[in-house]
Amino acid sequence: MTISPESFRERILSEIEPMAASPQPIMECLGLACAEDVRAGVSLPGFDNSAMDGYAVRAEDVAGAVPDSPVDLPVVGEIGAGQASLLALPPGAAAKIMTGAPLPSGADAVVPYEWTDRGVARVVIDQSPSVGQHVRYAGEDVSVGDVVVSEGTVLVPRHLGLLASVGRSHVAARPRPRVVILSTGSELREPGQPLGHDSIYDGNSFLLAAAARQAGAIAYRVGIVPDSPRDFLTALHDQLVRADLVITSGGVSMGDYDVVKEALAPQGVWFGGVSMQPGKPQGFGKVGEEQVPIFCLPGNPVSSFVSFENFVLPALRRLMGKKPELRPSVTAKITHAMTSPKGRRQFMRGDYDGTHATVSPVGGPGSHLIGDLATANCLLVIPEDTTEIEAGEPVEVLVLDQEF
Ligand code: AMP
Ligand code: MG
Repeated sequence: MTISPESFRERILSEIEPMAASPQPIMECLGLACAEDVRAGVSLPGFDNSAMDGYAVRAEDVAGAVPDSPVDLPVVGEIGAGQASLLALPPGAAAKIMTGAPLPSGADAVVPYEWTDRGVARVVIDQSPSVGQHVRYAGEDVSVGDVVVSEGTVLVPRHLGLLASVGRSHVAARPRPRVVILSTGSELREPGQPLGHDSIYDGNSFLLAAAARQAGAIAYRVGIVPDSPRDFLTALHDQLVRADLVITSGGVSMGDYDVVKEALAPQGVWFGGVSMQPGKPQGFGKVGEEQVPIFCLPGNPVSSFVSFENFVLPALRRLMGKKPELRPSVTAKITHAMTSPKGRRQFMRGDYDGTHATVSPVGGPGSHLIGDLATANCLLVIPEDTTEIEAGEPVEVLVLDQEF
């Protein structure tokens, strides 16, 4: 008995609520979903100001200035950015003004240096600006009270710049989930340590911790846990205090040492088969007093990655209030014929060429092929009832490592 990837995902998501939002310093919010409609506290620009270094004038005082017949005006003052000293410009005069400095009242245009002799006491102007030329008007970009960032927007650097520009130091955002990653397997060794003839390096905890971090979470990679239910439960319970979500790798299938299943099935965690390849054996439930969601992923590296993509990523996005929760797919023409098992949705690794909207399978179906997984840039999604695909047919593709 297996369940479909959708019904497993729905079951997971029905048990996960977005985390509570709170005000956070804006620099901590890159990649987070904004949890409020942010209204501008000030207009942008906040006051009429100069767009050029030059001279503030009344346009009518310099009308008709041309190189053969320039106009010269007395210079009555100088206004730098951040200096509001000269508040009014008398008629028939000019004031030196720098980019961003407030336009004195009475002035309605700026003559850039390039149209003048750069005079100090008097200035000779040989080109006339139109009314408003080189002036940036108050509120022309953003008006006070405008919604500048709406709730749910995933904040990118441009939003942070705007939030700061309208005077916000903090903004309501959902926190980054703290994700604890535990690798199980008595055969596993830490990279950098010596390897026995029967041992392998623990790749999964790095893969999963990095994937969680890429999704916006704070990832805590716990070391390797041997295939002992007692050791596993001790390690898990030690970690629960700092976890909003737990991911385990390995120990969920039908072997004799399936430690995660053995330790957690009695605690009510669900273990079963999902009709997909790779990633058939899965576990999900809640553990500890705080009922922390736990994802028990299969140990083969490609299986654990495909499981993360299908189940953990949408859960993390739900916690963070990010929409859409599922990575959007694209359609591409497959370059080679392919077969796929009946009754299981296959997530084959691929090389997607966005320019030509084509995709080629990478490597074979084996779920141990981490070299091919790293070479690939996408997953091809082959439906359960499709067993053969001809070259040139359209297929669904999940392009990896892209923001959405
Ligand atoms: P398991 O799900 O524990 O039966 O593991 C399935 C396969 O994945 C076995 O060949 C394991 O050695 C391998 N494996 C399990 N955990 C890891 C890991 N953390 N890194 C790399 N390979 C792993
Ligand atoms: Mg194992």
